[in-house]
Amino acid sequence: MSKPKIVILGGGFGGIFTALELAGAADVSLVTDADHFLFTPMLYEYLSGEVAAWHIAPRYDELLNEDVHIVQSVVTAVDLKSQTVALENSQPLNYDVLVLALGGITNYVGVEGAEEFSMPFRKLAHADNLRRRMVAALDRIPPDFAPQDVRREVTFAVVGAGASGCELSTKMADLLHDAFKRRALHGEPRVLVIELADRVVPGMGDQIREFVEDALHQSRVEVHTNTRVVKVTPDELTFEHEGRQENLKTAGVVWTGGVKMSPVIEQLDAEKNKRGLLMVKPTLQLSQHFNVFALGDIAFFPDATPTLAGTAQLAFQQASLAGRNIKAYMEGNELHTKHFEELGEALSLGTERAAVLTGGKAFGGALARQARFALYTSRLPTWHHRLRVGASWFFEGTTPQPLLPLGFER
Ligand SMILES: Cc1cc2nc3c(=O)[nH]c(=O)nc-3n(C[C@H](O)[C@H](O)[C@H](O)COP(=O)(O)OP(=O)(O)OC[C@H]3O[C@@H](n4cnc5c(N)ncnc54)[C@H](O)[C@@H]3O)c2cc1C
Repeated sequence: MSKPKIVILGGGFGGIFTALELAGAADVSLVTDADHFLFTPMLYEYLSGEVAAWHIAPRYDELLNEDVHIVQSVVTAVDLKSQTVALENSQPLNYDVLVLALGGITNYVGVEGAEEFSMPFRKLAHADNLRRRMVAALDRIPPDFAPQDVRREVTFAVVGAGASGCELSTKMADLLHDAFKRRALHGEPRVLVIELADRVVPGMGDQIREFVEDALHQSRVEVHTNTRVVKVTPDELTFEHEGRQENLKTAGVVWTGGVKMSPVIEQLDAEKNKRGLLMVKPTLQLSQHFNVFALGDIAFFPDATPTLAGTAQLAFQQASLAGRNIKAYMEGNELHTKHFEELGEALSLGTERAAVLTGGKAFGGALARQARFALYTSRLPTWHHRLRVGASWFFEGTTPQPLLPLGFER
């Protein structure tokens, strides 16, 4: 008898860890649009050169053995009735069991020009692009430029002061300040973080916010809360605060302002909540399709601490439940449920600091930076990869790579 066909869509946190759980248990295919996994929590350290691409973005063929077929393609549609997945430039795939783990995409919330002219920050290529933009802005400055002109030419804005916006803006500010010193430029770079809510990291507790606010201050990031971005152009940003609009000349705008569902999930004929998230049972199954499991950023899971919504932590924890339940489903056994709790928070704040919240206690500074590296080593996929990366960080270090003039850059 042939093995049941399991098709996993998406090779991020939900997809890769489910694939690792199921490898060998059935005929498993992992469909994903890239050739590598990405450990997104360390994309900031990749931007600054503290880590290399191979540390945080191992190739799927290095993580998975031949028990999992890797199909590198873009999923264009899923038909739950005929149990078929349509792919770009490839034959459709049929499945017995489907795992939906397609994650989210950047949400520009309809702001004029935002999608065309601001930079997303979700992939290695986005970090490379942003680094190039910072280098290009620095390279344009003649050594004798007056401080106020320099400041205007090297102005970057980050939209959204959630964890991502604060981690990114502090990292960018530290890199730019360092480059100013190395290049002996007059004045200072300007990095702003712009937030609609009345505080930074609005979804996080006060303890960790204190460390974030301190880091933003130390990295000299300008914080604009209660502020709405209304327009982005190639070299300008318009924002509104207390009813007044202001235009700001920028060398680059990065958009970390939100996440929305992938178009494939938007078009899927299944039960969703108001935000478009797939409603899943506590077993991770879709309510009307018991052979379809959904997890990660696209699924509304009823039994998790609310702060876990939309996090790698949740997708990672759900993957082991998904793997276990898919095996039980195939064997005709009872499926399990699980309550998911916070595993702790770790934020990278600039190139020298971090903040870690664990066991209800927060700590910051250089020690937290080390703790974050240690914690994340243990969360990378596969023992083999963890050991290689852990050894590299321990023996070769995690020093940032300065923003060098184009031609000398990495
Ligand atoms: C910069 C950044 C930093 C973050 N930091 C943290 C953090 O510190 N802690 C934390 O808990 N969470 C963090 N997150 C959130 C975390 O990355 C997500 O919650 C997590 O990745 C969700 O896992 P997922 O499996 O649902 O989706 P993803 O990990 O996004 O995986 C989805 C996968 O599907 C692929 N895909 C999408 N559409 C298609 C398609 N049509 N065809 C084929 N493949 C497709 C994508 O390329 C991707 O590989 C961060 C996110 C970002 C962007």
